[in-house]
Amino acid sequence: MGRHTSWRAGGVARFYSEPSSLEEVRSLLAWATDEGLPVVWIGRGTNMLVDDQGFPGLIASYRAQDWQVAEQDAAVLVRIEGGAVMAGMARRLAAMGLAGLEWAEGLPGTVGGAVVGNAGCYGGDTATLLQRVELLVDGTLEQWPPAQLMYRYRHSLLKVATPSDRPPPLVVAATFRLERADPFVLMERMAAIAAERKRKTPTGSSCGSVFKNPPGDSAGRLIEAAGLKGRSIGAAQISSVHANYIMNRGGATATEIQALIVLARTVVWERFGVALELEVRILS
Ligand SMILES: Cc1cc2nc3c(=O)[nH]c(=O)nc-3n(C[C@H](O)[C@H](O)[C@H](O)COP(=O)(O)OP(=O)(O)OC[C@H]3O[C@@H](n4cnc5c(N)ncnc54)[C@H](O)[C@@H]3O)c2cc1C
Repeated sequence: MGRHTSWRAGGVARFYSEPSSLEEVRSLLAWATDEGLPVVWIGRGTNMLVDDQGFPGLIASYRAQDWQVAEQDAAVLVRIEGGAVMAGMARRLAAMGLAGLEWAEGLPGTVGGAVVGNAGCYGGDTATLLQRVELLVDGTLEQWPPAQLMYRYRHSLLKVATPSDRPPPLVVAATFRLERADPFVLMERMAAIAAERKRKTPTGSSCGSVFKNPPGDSAGRLIEAAGLKGRSIGAAQISSVHANYIMNRGGATATEIQALIVLARTVVWERFGVALELEVRILS
């Protein structure tokens, strides 16, 4: 799965697929159910780590990427399929003069991944302008209002694991409520965010922030204060630029990355009594 995740590490999935339509998903699910395989949906694997032991089932990256715009009173509703790349959509919509998703400039991953993890940055997050989410639940297409997904900071109901004998819900599409604005102003705002992101983000293979920020503090500050900035295990390293990032410096294993995660959690707990909670999903 190192080929399909931004950390470039992790074991082998027994089956891997990239369905690009709901029809393909349905036939894939019918086959996986017949074979008795556990199923995991992913987007672009920018917020997950697959254990070195691999995964004994099907990992499927949903690739449907269509989108439609509909006017509604003063606002504009934009429906985007789950496999669309979030940052690309944000830029395209800003260029059309549709405001609301500028914060997602440079955010890696898909609309589906963002909906599951309530991705956010630079003053915005996925849940804020969400109108509804289309989910495939046990073979049935359902429309969920955001309130039902129990959104909070980097969390939704979809992030909670479902029993492995049933396929988890698939984020088929999400509809956002945007507003009209001057495209030049929006593009300028995004250029500023891009510059800021470039300045703050370590370059290389990572999953972004490993831990959620604890209330009123930052995980990176705590890890740095615990003296772990730059600490390596094998080819995995706690970034010397941003201590909430763990970098794969070339050939790191998932085990090495997980060892740094355990180290950071243990030392931060011992020094500051703060239990760091994972933002990234570890699949084992
Ligand atoms: C350099 C870097 C910077 C980052 N900066 C930020 C940031 O500023 N803010 C932020 O919030 N995140 C950040 N991230 C993390 C990542 O970009 C987000 O979490 C993103 O939303 C993940 O999208 P994805 O498609 O890659 O999801 P994946 O990593 O593939 O999956 C994440 C979770 O969503 C589930 N999932 C994905 N797609 C679907 C679907 N269609 N249906 C059902 N379940 C699905 C997966 O099972 C998994 O549980 C960063 C990552 C990197 C590498």
